[in-house]
Amino acid sequence: MLPLDPQADIGRRAWVACPNCDDRQGCDPCAQGRTCSTHWRYLLSNTGSLLHLQCPSCTHVWEHETHFGATRSRWRRVIDGLREQ
Ligand SMILES: [Zn+2]
Ligand SMILES: [Zn+2]
Repeated sequence: MLPLDPQADIGRRAWVACPNCDDRQGCDPCAQGRTCSTHWRYLLSNTGSLLHLQCPSCTHVWEHETHFGATRSRWRRVIDGLREQ
């Protein structure tokens, strides 16, 4: 297990499936695409629409391309903690 990244901040979370542990299996809020209170990932950083994520369950670190680039409103459905400029 990796240590949690020092940039991991509970105030910046993203609702993306973990490619390593797939802990959302059988979870109702996740299946419905809602912001589940149990299954979320740390948003370590982002470069444009590319997110750098860490899973709090298994500490796996990966990058996730959202393709959300231009539309900030769509970002806000996936990410909590980003503020409008
Ligand atoms: Zn995981
Ligand atoms: Zn869930």
